[in-house]
Amino acid sequence: MRTSFLFDHPSPCRECGKAAAKRTTTEWHTDNEMPPYTGNQIVLKTLHRHRLLWDGETYIQKYGYFCSLNCTSAYANRMAATFER
Ligand SMILES: [Zn+2]
Repeated sequence: MRTSFLFDHPSPCRECGKAAAKRTTTEWHTDNEMPPYTGNQIVLKTLHRHRLLWDGETYIQKYGYFCSLNCTSAYANRMAATFER
């Protein structure tokens, strides 16, 4: 089960310090020409048939306070070693 956490700032991974990513949504178009964007989100990128949107304030770490399962287990193992000594 994946447990993503959302933040209002680029919260760093507690293990490696990597900043949380912008939480984006992708808007797809099937028309030949993409219509101009009229929404209230920030367009980060426009590609052939889709554009990447961001609300300007939400960041996400995929694994809670961590960027990856490797970072999660590294941190957990260090904690276990510390507390079981
Ligand atoms: Zn990390």
